[in-house]
Amino acid sequence: MKALVYHGPGAKAWEEAPDPVILKPTDAIVKVETTTICGTDLHILKGDVPAVTDGRILGHEGVGTITEVGSAVTDLAVGDRVIISCISSCGKCSYCKKGVYSHCQADEGASGIGWIFGHLINGTQAEFVRVPFAETSLYRVPDGVSAEEAVMISDILPTGHEIGIQYGQVKPGDVVAVVGAGPVGLAAITTAGLYGPSRVIAIDLDANRVEQAKRFGASDGVVASDPDWKEQVLALTDGLGVDVSVEAVGIPATWDMTLSIVRPAGHVANVGVHGKPVEFPLDRVWIDNLTVTTGLVNTDSSAMLIKLLAQRKLDVSGFISHRFALGDIMDAYDTFSRAAETKALKVILQA
Ligand code: NAD
Ligand code: ZN
Repeated sequence: MKALVYHGPGAKAWEEAPDPVILKPTDAIVKVETTTICGTDLHILKGDVPAVTDGRILGHEGVGTITEVGSAVTDLAVGDRVIISCISSCGKCSYCKKGVYSHCQADEGASGIGWIFGHLINGTQAEFVRVPFAETSLYRVPDGVSAEEAVMISDILPTGHEIGIQYGQVKPGDVVAVVGAGPVGLAAITTAGLYGPSRVIAIDLDANRVEQAKRFGASDGVVASDPDWKEQVLALTDGLGVDVSVEAVGIPATWDMTLSIVRPAGHVANVGVHGKPVEFPLDRVWIDNLTVTTGLVNTDSSAMLIKLLAQRKLDVSGFISHRFALGDIMDAYDTFSRAAETKALKVILQA
């Protein structure tokens, strides 16, 4: 088969790779129909994720059709169309039993972490992929949901929803701010709408993304390079700050911004993956009774989000900015990596 293979920092190739085979009775093989590229893949290509080694097939998002199942797989069958989750879960370890799939302790990759595709084992940017723990990690694509809609469930929708909105405990009437209007921030904005906030404020350096955020349910937008951006945000509240402030960038500057606009007794939900430590002003967090949360997505809300997609209660069509043939994935990477120029959000690859 053909696959997108990582060859160390800065190097990747769409090349011939061995077809995946069933290694364990709980595996399935999926023929990839649709996949996409994540900001995390760009981090890997910069060399920021050393656990990813030369020869690894990248990608942790995908939708496809099962072509083979292991002997222990009884609930899924050849021909089933499935969503591949960025988090794999054995369903049996103590973390999986608590719904904390992000810390599945199963021996795949021997890491105690649920994110293994395109990280510790071969991923989804390929013609075929081996899926461990198929029954507890795959989701059937419901009738009426397209593959390109369904692939938003692999990572960005549960990430924005769980780590931004659920951890942030968004409630009816809340004013929510989301710093960073990339795919993950926009997923937080979209799913905030499920909880009845009175305002959702999108904040980004990129004026185009701030404008686009309104299509995803943001009521207001603030351009972060405006010298008075903070005053603009506070003016959209009663002056005391937002109830829930979500960080969806992953750099110290945006962490500081996210904290600076939250009201006393508010929630700060960090979604961004930070490459270095940030300043944590415990002296203020304490006296302001702030709740600060963060984490790796569990995908324990994926089944619920799929239901909403099927019922047309969630519209994800706006996330798709570009479509490519799977064989043109090198061009897709180029477009995605220049998002500010190309206005890329999610680039869809179709087999
Ligand atoms: P992205 O790079 O596409 O979007 C980031 C946005 O932040 C861009 O629109 C950019 O213009 C904006 N930005 C950059 N600097 C800014 C600043 N100083 N002020 C305001 N806005 C600024 O990224 P994404 O794919 O949307 O992902 C967002 C973050 O979520 C990343 O750190 C990613 O690694 C992380 N992530 C976390 C999890 C998790 O489980 N917690 C899962 C997936 C992704
Ligand atoms: Zn587990």
